[in-house]
Amino acid sequence: MKKLDHVKDILQETLEDLGIFLSEDSLNTLADNAVLAAESFDAHSTAPVAYNDTELRELKGKVEQLEERKPCRRCAGAGGYRVNVGNSHSSVQECFECGGTGYALEYSNRFTARLGRI
Ligand SMILES: [Zn+2]
Repeated sequence: MKKLDHVKDILQETLEDLGIFLSEDSLNTLADNAVLAAESFDAHSTAPVAYNDTELRELKGKVEQLEERKPCRRCAGAGGYRVNVGNSHSSVQECFECGGTGYALEYSNRFTARLGRI
């Protein structure tokens, strides 16, 4: 039995118990709307996302790390330089000081930055 037929049967029995008799079309419309209401309720009533404390602490640490970054002094935060090649062509060369990130890095982080763009 389809969901719509099931809902229609229940509504019909309930309405008959109350002494209300609807035409077939009215009963179909009522059952259609009841099914739509139930489906839209299911779609909009998801549980809020729960984060655990460890995950929140890690994310907070990462945000603080990102906020403490200082722009690279060599490229002024651009991450690269425009290099003229001939009269009408140019290209962008990655800044070797910051690995193209635009932010000053500790020496030990330069290699990581080149690999993962942290
Ligand atoms: Zn740089």
